[in-house]
Amino acid sequence: MVKIPEETIEKIRSSVNILDIVGQHVQLKKAGKNFFGLCPFHEERTPSFSVNEEKQIFHCFSCGRGGNVFTFLMELEGLSFTEAVQAVGKAGGMQLPDELVQAQQPSAREQQLRPLFSVHEAATRFYHHILVNTKAGAPAREYLKKRQISAEMIETFQLGFAPSERVLQPFFKEQQTDYQTLRKTGLFIENQAGELTDRFVNRLMFPIRNPQGAPIGFSGRLLQQNEQQPKYLNSPETELFNKRKVIYNLDLAKPAVRKTQRLILFEGFMDVISAYQAEVFNGVASMGTSLTEEQIYEFKKVTSQICVCYDGDQPGQKATNRAIDLLTQQDSFEVNVIQMPNGVDPDEFRRTAGPKRFREVISKAQEPALKFKLNFLKTQFNLNNDVDKLNYVNQVLQQIANTKPGVTQDVYLKELSADVDLPFDSLRKQLGNLPDQSRKNHSSKLHNQHSQQAPQLAERHYSRIENAERHLLMAMFYNSSVWDQVVANPNFNFIHDQYQQLYLFAQEYFRTHARYQSAEFSDFVQEPKLQAVLAELEIDNDEQLDNEEAATDCVKMITESAPLVSKINQLRQEFDSAGQIGDELQQLKLASELIRLHRQLDQLRTSND
Ligand SMILES: [Zn+2]
Repeated sequence: MVKIPEETIEKIRSSVNILDIVGQHVQLKKAGKNFFGLCPFHEERTPSFSVNEEKQIFHCFSCGRGGNVFTFLMELEGLSFTEAVQAVGKAGGMQLPDELVQAQQPSAREQQLRPLFSVHEAATRFYHHILVNTKAGAPAREYLKKRQISAEMIETFQLGFAPSERVLQPFFKEQQTDYQTLRKTGLFIENQAGELTDRFVNRLMFPIRNPQGAPIGFSGRLLQQNEQQPKYLNSPETELFNKRKVIYNLDLAKPAVRKTQRLILFEGFMDVISAYQAEVFNGVASMGTSLTEEQIYEFKKVTSQICVCYDGDQPGQKATNRAIDLLTQQDSFEVNVIQMPNGVDPDEFRRTAGPKRFREVISKAQEPALKFKLNFLKTQFNLNNDVDKLNYVNQVLQQIANTKPGVTQDVYLKELSADVDLPFDSLRKQLGNLPDQSRKNHSSKLHNQHSQQAPQLAERHYSRIENAERHLLMAMFYNSSVWDQVVANPNFNFIHDQYQQLYLFAQEYFRTHARYQSAEFSDFVQEPKLQAVLAELEIDNDEQLDNEEAATDCVKMITESAPLVSKINQLRQEFDSAGQIGDELQQLKLASELIRLHRQLDQLRTSND
């Protein structure tokens, strides 16, 4: 590992705000002193991931991970410390010292995937070149012109063309690309003899990028209708390409989603590109199938507001209805629907009405998901038929029951009353009679008022002794007179290993640092486990730390308990060993001794009160 001077690290770390870096991956909301969001390291429904801006550290109350901005990137993206410093330096617009620029230490996994990434890079450029510069690309250029896709968009989205002559395989053969690598890309079909030929033929090529912007697969659209072949052909599943996870254009959309606080979900790639051309930058699309849990989870990381903007035709309406059901299953999103006027596709509307009008519709013509849902239900039933009508009323009431009781419910009930020609009061009564099952969730699932979830913290509970240790350690770090008081006693030790280790590191640290800064100390400690302990201590600690008397009490309690605690630990080990050799008599003896010691410890604690 390269040794980076501490001043450089410090400079780079303070060139950014941890909120900005974390905010690129986690949607954060302020609650009290800290910011909270869904932990990016595991799936969860209620936020337990917290960031403290003042201290520039993060901590997850659920998985216990914690540290500073470097630790965050190391954990999240599997970077080495050096790489994390580089990444943060770049984000902070810092000029990196040469030794840092040269130091690249890819992980084993990265090394393994790197050739796959470069084949996709090369294939993207190759297809793009064919589209833009060659005669073979003419029909595809013509098609894009008809769809009014600008040269700038062709560039931005690196659109390409796979001609009918199979040219990709010869291209890589000439470059002497490794056969096994090519096999794994999914860009080729393999015959029984193991020979590879191009998978994509005579198709307009949409490179699919991962959230970091690297191409990981393709979707190819047929230029001419052909009964024997699908209109869109996707890369098969590969080590890079997981269709359930992929979201088209998430990488480019992310900054705009954060800025506008909402994400627009389109049905197809063309809609996304078309919208982008009209300067609607926050659009994404799923991979042609219905939304997956994995994709919804990705959405949750970036936004809490989603607008579904699918096609206006029958299948589009059905797909919208399904998307709403999936998105509202979890209480994480405010979901709205945008419908283009006259039931046309978003792309078509942009072309016919122009970008300005398109932007207007996108920004103003949204309706709550519930409203869409009720209109959609109406089209599914024949209201002139009594049985149908009854079913319709029941389904609508179920939907209304899912919203908060009050004005909103009344508005929808009134509409329903007019639609089915039944008295408002009897409908309301029926709503009240719905079984509790459907009414248990009063949060505004489908309606506009998204209720923010309060962070639920699974806080750990510590014994009184451990709490004393934790309090003392923080008091020592933040209050130099407490520090002086404790270090004056050379025999003082913390009982628990992790605190003792932090204490020892701190002694080193204060030799060269006049003032304690948690993010800086975290780098000094380096050990991930201790960094996590430290982050938890910091986030946890809101107490008054300038009370020297309280510190003295802590010291007293720790010192008095220490011999007992270590004796107990020793006896526990002996107890376990006795169990292993089946010496029950010895175990019995040790057990009663342990009980006696625990009693003593309890007495010690109460006498301290
Ligand atoms: Zn976590």
